[in-house]
Amino acid sequence: MLHFVVQKHQARQLHYDFRLELDGVLKSWAVPKGPALALGSKRLAVMVEDHPLDYGSFEGVIESGAYGAGTVMVWDAGTYRILGAIDAAAEEGLVRAGLTTGRLRIELEGKKLRGTFELVRFKRGGDRAWLLITVSGTGAPTQALDRSVLSNRTMEQITEQG
Ligand code: MN
Repeated sequence: MLHFVVQKHQARQLHYDFRLELDGVLKSWAVPKGPALALGSKRLAVMVEDHPLDYGSFEGVIESGAYGAGTVMVWDAGTYRILGAIDAAAEEGLVRAGLTTGRLRIELEGKKLRGTFELVRFKRGGDRAWLLITVSGTGAPTQALDRSVLSNRTMEQITEQG
């Protein structure tokens, strides 16, 4: 199973880091407004550098002076898949192809994001600008939207406790 994670990151600008496991790293996008649960929502997602897999479970405070200084919450986590793939290797191949062509449709199975999402690169925005589109949503979140799926803490609690 391939994993995804969304980290809410209160850096200089609040944003959400949307990350998909692929080839042993986390492909990553910064989503200023965060992923949306409402159908048809389109959110700007700016592709940023790959992150190590184990960074996906980081929650806490990045010290001031360091890159990305501020509070990080594991906002959602779970698995993702691509319909039509017969096994994990085929799945990764399809994800790779989608990233190359600029269109990637995935099924997220998280605690908040559950359903079909599409990442579409848009030309006018330069090659790092994508849209994260909520194609179909399913069911209610099983975790409060303002709390960590890792620790059930709010941003304020993480900021206080580290
Ligand atoms: Mn970030």
